[in-house]
Amino acid sequence: MASIYERHVDFPTFMEGVKKRNAGQTEFIQAVQEVAQDIFDFIEDKEEYHEAQILRRIAEPDRVVSFRVCWEDDNHNVRVQRGWRVQNNNAIGPYKGGIRFHPSVNESVLKFLAFEQTFKNSLTGLPMGGGKGGSNFNPKGKSDSEVMRFCQSFMTELYRHIGPDTDVPAGDIGVGGREIGYMFGQYKRITNRWEGVLTGKGIEYGGSQMRPEATGYGAVYFLQNMLEHKGDSVDGKTAVISGSGNVATHAAEKITQLGGKVLTLSDSGGFIHDPDGIDQEKIDWIKHLKNVKRGRISEYCDHYTGSTFHEGKRPWSVDCDLALPCATQNELNEDEAKELVSNGVKAVSEGANMPTTLEGVHVFHDAKVMYAPGKAANAGGVAVSGLEMSQNAERISWNHERLGDMLTELMQGIHEKCVEYGDQGDGHVDYVKGANIAGFKKVADAMLAFGVV
Ligand code: NDP
Repeated sequence: MASIYERHVDFPTFMEGVKKRNAGQTEFIQAVQEVAQDIFDFIEDKEEYHEAQILRRIAEPDRVVSFRVCWEDDNHNVRVQRGWRVQNNNAIGPYKGGIRFHPSVNESVLKFLAFEQTFKNSLTGLPMGGGKGGSNFNPKGKSDSEVMRFCQSFMTELYRHIGPDTDVPAGDIGVGGREIGYMFGQYKRITNRWEGVLTGKGIEYGGSQMRPEATGYGAVYFLQNMLEHKGDSVDGKTAVISGSGNVATHAAEKITQLGGKVLTLSDSGGFIHDPDGIDQEKIDWIKHLKNVKRGRISEYCDHYTGSTFHEGKRPWSVDCDLALPCATQNELNEDEAKELVSNGVKAVSEGANMPTTLEGVHVFHDAKVMYAPGKAANAGGVAVSGLEMSQNAERISWNHERLGDMLTELMQGIHEKCVEYGDQGDGHVDYVKGANIAGFKKVADAMLAFGVV
């Protein structure tokens, strides 16, 4: 029997334990801290969650698999990388979450992403647990053959840890349609099974319509829901967006479709500012630059005069009504949040995962800016991945229009859950709190049903 002390551990003691057990894993500790404060307030008088140590269990991954990935480059040099799969929690469904290929990938980053994914997937209302994986492999500058050999080697180990009812990975930074294709082909070759083991697949082999658009469009639908809650809309507003990958370009596309004007996009080299607005024709040009030519965003300014490139800078100093960080974690800090607020930003919707630092989040919170955390705002991607799993399981495919309607409804549902648990009673909604509590409750109640496992 647990002692009273263990059952009623307070927030500082809980965090001390997390820090001790995960020494040096700063991103993971940051992610747990952001969620735990809200959960502690929520479960204060709920004895059953304390007794079952639910939060401590969610903050301890079910398992972390780490493995060697060996491959040969075009010059026949042997390269050695590290791969991981973090399976955080499968209380409400098979583990589900993307694979990231980027030199910054390490265990802490993947644990933070898998932890966040658990709450995000719960918020969608679909039966999906939380996981995340990846490698410190850098696809930038590699030939298609090198990327293929790496992906095949990566899957040669990963395949034994995943499955359509066990764990269903998807894409993330550095993993798009090309990489998913190579990994799916290898899984199929090894297992001799065609099954929905990955999402984000090509349309020709079981992929879902709307999946490429879903995260970026979803982040804008969430933004629109927040604005509508205040009787406002995206129409006529200026938007500053970071990143120029899958999420950023589709967020830009939807902002434009809803009558907004996109002023910036970026990559790790800097940002472009186009005061005339980055319209659909320009977005298509950027998609080609990034997905086919695999070029740099700075090339935009050689093509579109009147725009400027700001080397090594992030776009948050540009005056705007709406801000959408869509590149990576911790890309918007306290000072940048203050600058956005003093420039009159009305709403922030996170396409990326944890792009705003904890201090930055506090700035938005204190200024009562509408602020949607990634786990709510970017859940559209995994939601349509969930729908891809359903289509694969039933051997059917739904059309673009039907999936578009489902995405709109799913994002509306997530917004409603956030309002239910985050309404402050003064007209302001704390979307962080709302998302944390709504996401936690479903997972926690499922875990209670299982007893101590
Ligand atoms: P992509 O690889 O398609 O694009 C990533 C973009 O972010 C690129 O423009 C990249 O620039 C930029 N970027 C990456 N690292 C940095 C950095 N350290 N500093 C500045 N810019 C950087 O990834 P996605 O668009 O798929 O993902 C973006 C974010 O959205 C991630 O946080 C991801 O976890 C999150 N997300 C993605 C989902 C999806 O469906 N794809 C679902 C939910 C969340 P460069 O080319 O120079 O590296």
